[in-house]
Amino acid sequence: MKYLSCVIAAAFFCAAWSAGHDDPLTAALPANPDWLKPQTPLKLFGNTYFVGTGGISIVLIDTGDGLILIDGALPQTAAATEANIRQLGFRVEDIRYILNTEAHFDHSGGLAALARDSGAEVITSPIGAAALKAGQVDAHDPQASNISRSPPVPNTRGIEDGGALRLGNTVVTAVFTPGHTPGSVSWTWRSCEGETCRNVVFASSLNAVANGGFTYTGHPEVTAQLRASIDRVEGLTCDLLISAHPDNSGGDVKIAALEAGATPNPFLAPRACQAYAERARGRLQARLDREASR
Ligand SMILES: [Zn+2]
Repeated sequence: MKYLSCVIAAAFFCAAWSAGHDDPLTAALPANPDWLKPQTPLKLFGNTYFVGTGGISIVLIDTGDGLILIDGALPQTAAATEANIRQLGFRVEDIRYILNTEAHFDHSGGLAALARDSGAEVITSPIGAAALKAGQVDAHDPQASNISRSPPVPNTRGIEDGGALRLGNTVVTAVFTPGHTPGSVSWTWRSCEGETCRNVVFASSLNAVANGGFTYTGHPEVTAQLRASIDRVEGLTCDLLISAHPDNSGGDVKIAALEAGATPNPFLAPRACQAYAERARGRLQARLDREASR
């Protein structure tokens, strides 16, 4: 049937059809099934929406003069993200900037397809930008020895720590939070519903994870960096937290509750950043203890 359609349709349609089947930017990477769970898109607060999967956060901000997307999940989830954006009534072509929390394929694998389809510029730390352009994590990444490559993202630039990105009615600020990856960035902005405004934090992963021969004990500079990042997230003005992996901050439970119509809004939780930081600190200490007892 598809072949027949192709024969009788115009040449451009056939080209699009074959691209859909052989698109290198959306080819599946091996993934934890939890990361791929479909998720209905939801309004989190004001101009801020959740458009990710059930296991990986992606946020859309409607600035009134174009859209900002944060993170891209995996190559094979890019189409679902675009469908989520359209389901909310927005146009993928109106995304002006795509921000990234880390150059690991579960958060950045979909960026190449999303940037291509939207025409958006991708922005992250200079270290993260170099990794995205290469499609390969930084050599100093604790997981560098054994992590999937992902499609390179050519239209990418770095922003400085504390740098502000202005679009429409929104200013998004970069907060560098290295440690889980050398180029990790968290992002903050204010979102308003009428007269009520809240400080939103999209926090990068702060998990002490390593592979190959990497140990945190053997890299005190990385351990110190991660500790400082955990302290930094703990100190942010934070009314609403989205963590890169929702289940690292109870986000999966909050999403389910929000979807079920829970009131008050479960995401408005003033101590969420502190709890997220405490969890990350505990994980780091547990890892250091394990390494010391080997
Ligand atoms: Zn990661």
